[in-house]
Amino acid sequence: MNVDTLIQGGAIVTPERSIDGNIAIKDGKIAAVTDADSVPRAEEVVDAADKLVMPGVVDPHVHIDGHNSRDSYVTGTKAAALGGVTSCINFAWEGWNDERRAWDGDVTLQEAVERQIEKGDDSLIDFGLHGTITRGDPTVLTELETLVEDGVTSFKMFTAYEFGLTNGFINRVLNRVAETEAVAVFHTEDESVCAELTAELESSGKGHPRHYPSSRPDYAEAMAADSALRMAREAGAKYYGVHTSCEEAGRVLESYQQDGSRVRAETCTHYLTLDESAYETSGTLPVIAPPLRTSRDQERLFDQLESGALSVVSTDHVATKRASKEVKNWWETSFGANSLQYSLPVFYDEAVNRRGFSRPFLVRLMCSNPAKTFGLSQKGTLEPGTDADIVIFDPDAEYTIDATRNASIADYTIYDGRTVTGKVDRTYLRGELIAKDGATTVEPGYGSFVERDIPSWSA
Ligand SMILES: [Zn+2]
Repeated sequence: MNVDTLIQGGAIVTPERSIDGNIAIKDGKIAAVTDADSVPRAEEVVDAADKLVMPGVVDPHVHIDGHNSRDSYVTGTKAAALGGVTSCINFAWEGWNDERRAWDGDVTLQEAVERQIEKGDDSLIDFGLHGTITRGDPTVLTELETLVEDGVTSFKMFTAYEFGLTNGFINRVLNRVAETEAVAVFHTEDESVCAELTAELESSGKGHPRHYPSSRPDYAEAMAADSALRMAREAGAKYYGVHTSCEEAGRVLESYQQDGSRVRAETCTHYLTLDESAYETSGTLPVIAPPLRTSRDQERLFDQLESGALSVVSTDHVATKRASKEVKNWWETSFGANSLQYSLPVFYDEAVNRRGFSRPFLVRLMCSNPAKTFGLSQKGTLEPGTDADIVIFDPDAEYTIDATRNASIADYTIYDGRTVTGKVDRTYLRGELIAKDGATTVEPGYGSFVERDIPSWSA
């Protein structure tokens, strides 16, 4: 066999196991995974001795060039490529009537998807889109089928914020989502509980970010999850919970998983690697919603990943400038945190180095589970015949995270100053080297919009 590229001599980490061997790439696909003794003839040989060779990270929850995130596809996906992320799922927001809306209030979901695909012309990595439903306009119900046919096979809804939907409308959408066999994606926090608590803290002048977690408590997250899950079960819709931040919400999700395979959920790197003490040390920079929780929650989230109640680790990447984060009172800050560039090394260091979880476990959470959950059949695996999306990772390199190296437009990181062991060495997308030694190596536009399949969720 003659191949284009041979990645030789690394520890190959698949979702199932870790083996010493070689990976052969031909025409942008994985041609073979061989043992160390089998060496096909190759145009280019890449020495991966003492390195890990893993599938590219699939991040199903990122905000790039959206209403709340200032990264363009160029800056956001450069950060991704440097972080070993080879595909992501971004959001296309339907318009809504509010001063902070992304576009005119009458932009349909279909138009929003078209606009995002156009913007994504500059992407360095492959990307899909979740359709985000932001207003209770039944017109959207007639759009879902075409969107699913066009590869937008998941729909996001919020129970909170000015673009949150009523339970009544969520229920209608869920029935339609069930008919199309797409995935319903939920941000759950009880809006009125959070609004009242926020108002109380504002009126008593509790502007220090240490007070922020109490404005969006764990039970508010769990309450809203329970309502949405109950409706999804009735409708027979696939349910995916985003950014699960606490034990309480995880337990609710788990309670609906006992009667079938239609409930899945993620947590994010920051909930697994930071706790609420970060509001003392980093001020308003880690103000995200839901908030960072207690160290006990952090422990329980690892238990829930281990049990399978949670099966994906994402970033919820949001890019804003430090100036819009560092304000007097936490309620004036712009919410969200950027982490596409650092999620893999930070989570690797925490999960594998500090807690002793296996490397295949990390690959399942960051690569194969998100790909399977969202119908990305070519991604998140090293199976022969699939896209050659690969990260070469140095498990022994120790370094300190430094925001001045950000490719994102965000000029800070919540991991600034954190010393980690494990570094992205090279990133390949469809057989092409897209990042090496901390610099990107392809022009913007190499990445493509991916039409996703309807995921089966049978296994
Ligand atoms: Zn998000």
